[in-house]
Amino acid sequence: MAEAADTLRLEGVRKSYNTGTALETEVLHGIDLRLARGEFAALIGPSGSGKSTLLNVIGLLDPPNAGSLFIEGEEAGRLDDAQTTRLRGRAIGFVFQYHYLLPAFSALENVMMPVLAARGRPDDEMRATAAALLDKVGLTRWRDQKTSKLSGGQQQRVAVARALAMKPALVLADEPTGNLDTKSADGVFEVLRKVNRDSGTTFLIVTHDPRLAQRCDRIVELVDGRIVSDRPNSPASG
Ligand code: ADP
Ligand code: MG
Repeated sequence: MAEAADTLRLEGVRKSYNTGTALETEVLHGIDLRLARGEFAALIGPSGSGKSTLLNVIGLLDPPNAGSLFIEGEEAGRLDDAQTTRLRGRAIGFVFQYHYLLPAFSALENVMMPVLAARGRPDDEMRATAAALLDKVGLTRWRDQKTSKLSGGQQQRVAVARALAMKPALVLADEPTGNLDTKSADGVFEVLRKVNRDSGTTFLIVTHDPRLAQRCDRIVELVDGRIVSDRPNSPASG
C-alpha cells in the first residue's frame, strides 16, 4: 500500500456545524494535509480558526462533511462505527489542554486505563508497560501517587504517557501546555519531542505559543478554516 507511508492524509476535508439548519456554518473549507511517519508538526492560528475542529476530525471524533481522511493508509470514511472506534484506539493518542485524569487513581493506573479498557483486566505486562512510559516522561518516583497530588506539569506528563499507552502512530495534542507555566510547558514539550525522536511517533500539536511552535519541524497555519501556510522549520537547538 503506497499511502501507508503517510501517517495521515486529508484530501478536501470540509466540516460544517449545524448542518441542515438555518445556523449551518462551514468551519473547515477544504483541507489538504499529509503527515509522513515521524513528523513533528505544529498547528497554529488565531482562536476560532478551526484548529480544534480539525483535530477532532483527524482524531475520528467527528466525521467530516466532505473530503477524505486516511489514517495509516486506511480510509476512515469507509469504516463503520465499531471499526472507527478500533482504529482510533489503536492508531491515535490524544493530549488535551485539560488532562482529564482520574484524580483518585495513581499515575500508573491512569496510564494503564486505555489498555485496560481495550483488554479487560490488568496484568503484569500492562503494569510494566505503563511503568516504562512513566519512566519516559520523568515520573518514575511518582508512579504510585494519586494524580490529584501531582503538579500541573506532572499531571500533563501523566496524560502524555496515557496517550502513548496503545503505542499510537499519531498523537494529536490540543494546546497541551496551555494551562502550564513556562517551565512546566517546556518540560512537557521536551517529553513530546523525546517520544517523537525515540519512537518515531508522528505528532500534530496545536499551540498558541510561538516559542513552542518554533521547536517543531514544521508549522502549519490555519486561518478561517483554510491552511494559509505550511512550512518546514528548523528548530533552534536546546
Ligand atoms: P480553534 O480551536 O482554532 O479556536 P474551533 O475549531 O474551536 O477553533 O472553532 C472554529 C469555529 O467553529 C468557531 O467559530 C466556533 O465557534 C465553531 N464551533 C466549534 N465547535 C462548534 C460546535 N460544536 N457547534 C457549532 N459551532 C462550533
Ligand atoms: Mg481550540
